[in-house]
Amino acid sequence: MSSQRATLENPDETTAAGDTVRKALYEKLVALVGEGHVLMQEDDRQKHSKTTLPYSKACALILYPSTALEVQGIIKLANEYRWPVWPFSRGNNWGYGTKNALKENAIILVLERMNRIIEVNESLAYAVIEPGVSQKQLNDYLKENKINLWLDCTDSTPNGSILGNAIERGYGYTPYGDHFGHLCGLEVVLPNGGLLKTGGEHSSAKTWNTHKWGSGPYVEGLFSQSNLGVVVKGGVWLMPKPEDFRLFTFEVRSDDRLPEVINALRELSLAGTIQCHTHMVNDFQMLSLLGPYPYDKRDGKTHLSDAALGEFRKKFRIPRWSLVGGLYGAPDVLKMNRKKLKKRLCGLGDIDFFDDKKISAAKKFADFHAKSKEGSVSRIVASLLKPFISLKPIKLIQLIPDIHDILKGVPNESILASAYFKSSSRPPESNLNPAEDGCGIMWLAPTLPATGEAAEELLKLVKPIYESHGFEFSGCFTIINPRTFFLLMGIFFDQKDHEEKARALNLYHELNRAVKSGGFPQYRLGLPAMENFMENENEIHDLLARIKKAADPNGILAPGRYIASTA
Ligand SMILES: Cc1cc2nc3c(=O)[nH]c(=O)nc-3n(C[C@H](O)[C@H](O)[C@H](O)COP(=O)(O)OP(=O)(O)OC[C@H]3O[C@@H](n4cnc5c(N)ncnc54)[C@H](O)[C@@H]3O)c2cc1C
Repeated sequence: MSSQRATLENPDETTAAGDTVRKALYEKLVALVGEGHVLMQEDDRQKHSKTTLPYSKACALILYPSTALEVQGIIKLANEYRWPVWPFSRGNNWGYGTKNALKENAIILVLERMNRIIEVNESLAYAVIEPGVSQKQLNDYLKENKINLWLDCTDSTPNGSILGNAIERGYGYTPYGDHFGHLCGLEVVLPNGGLLKTGGEHSSAKTWNTHKWGSGPYVEGLFSQSNLGVVVKGGVWLMPKPEDFRLFTFEVRSDDRLPEVINALRELSLAGTIQCHTHMVNDFQMLSLLGPYPYDKRDGKTHLSDAALGEFRKKFRIPRWSLVGGLYGAPDVLKMNRKKLKKRLCGLGDIDFFDDKKISAAKKFADFHAKSKEGSVSRIVASLLKPFISLKPIKLIQLIPDIHDILKGVPNESILASAYFKSSSRPPESNLNPAEDGCGIMWLAPTLPATGEAAEELLKLVKPIYESHGFEFSGCFTIINPRTFFLLMGIFFDQKDHEEKARALNLYHELNRAVKSGGFPQYRLGLPAMENFMENENEIHDLLARIKKAADPNGILAPGRYIASTA
């Protein structure tokens, strides 16, 4: 290694030597992927380093390869120059780190140009795609080609990557909402530049996209939440379009019924009545969906009092906890499951079902309501339609058709708008980008056994921590599987308020420590939690570090991402 080189050990491009090396590397990368696909200008680096975290890490340059071969070339160059490379599919990981590396001055690899839909197999219900394929792109493709398969989407951006989200083990809503669980067959560029195809000993297996385990040790897991490869192609199982579908909403009557509701959801899930990944948000997270943060109601404090929150619950007629889910299947199965849901949940709160007709009434109501300022006819039609939908305020009624779409795998930006909750600007009409638009949001997602007792224990652990740091508790219980839920906790903050930013980061670290020591491991991690992730996990840490050392001796691929380089 030349002493003139800025290296992983000394990646300081602010030195003259570092800058010279970066420029030499730049020339080689331009030759590899083309000039327009390597960004090194200061303003580009700034723009692409923006996150929704309270801090960001500036990158050295941003690369947009278009083939696996180019990715292999980049990895080989990174090894030659000992320069860290962090791969992203489309880089919309808002709330967890966006396109940031753990340390400054990494190469950021964005695979959005690798956006080919290679195959859709309707009879076996899967697609083979590249990492740049977005949720919108695959959904549009299925609709345009009249393919009777549904995607499962997140409620994040339609521009989000299907593979990127699945590799990170993200979640959606439908029965196919466990995204890594529905990934089957990967092609991966290894840290030495080699290309690996999973599927056991038979790389030509005809079951590559239909049988997850292959033969021999199952290795796909090594490339999920890790730093052992760059995924360049993958198979994704899709859901055959169900004969019938219903959205259902459920409002928990009071806070003290929550443990019973958690138990009921587990039972309904274990019995197969609920097959989807229901989401149940608390009042504050619901408020973030309805408009800007009410700064004027803080009464000089750093957060809303329970009384102020109570006023909002009254104003918007929202309960402490609100749940959405979907029923999928044949009409007679749906009818039976509707009855079972009602029977089990009715004593605990209010349940409502929405079919296509009711959704269309909600849409019409929202349209007429929007126009009602223009004339009395619209006002009259809106008031006539309202009783057919519910007694909910307009803001909630406007949301329901978009949630209905998400539960059918049609992505939209309605929920994503909540990332602008504490921002001084309102979300744009379309193409929301919370990081570039200066929003402050961080997520933590501890998992828990699906019992009311565990839910109570977790809430008792985390709510006082929010309180002591001067923030409102924001939570959403989601079914991972019938035996496990996660509690998605949001920390909303104002990027322009330096004191609040510091407090938000302290809150994050304390919550992270508390859920870890309390036995509630997170289902995925944000960057701030990766700094000391494997601290006390000696055997696992040791094994993974040894695998990392063998696969990536120069430590160039996403160093510190879930797996440390040293035991
Ligand atoms: C309001 C809001 C709502 C959200 N809702 C959801 C939700 O419903 N479900 C959900 O899961 N998330 C949600 N998110 C979080 C996030 O926006 C999504 O997870 C999003 O899909 C991540 O961005 P992406 O798809 O572009 O993936 P990327 O950012 O490209 O990838 C995610 C991570 O995986 C790794 N990675 C990506 N591609 C590769 C690759 N090819 N090889 C190796 N490693 C790779 C990267 O390290 C990256 O950090 C939400 C965020 C906000 C702010």
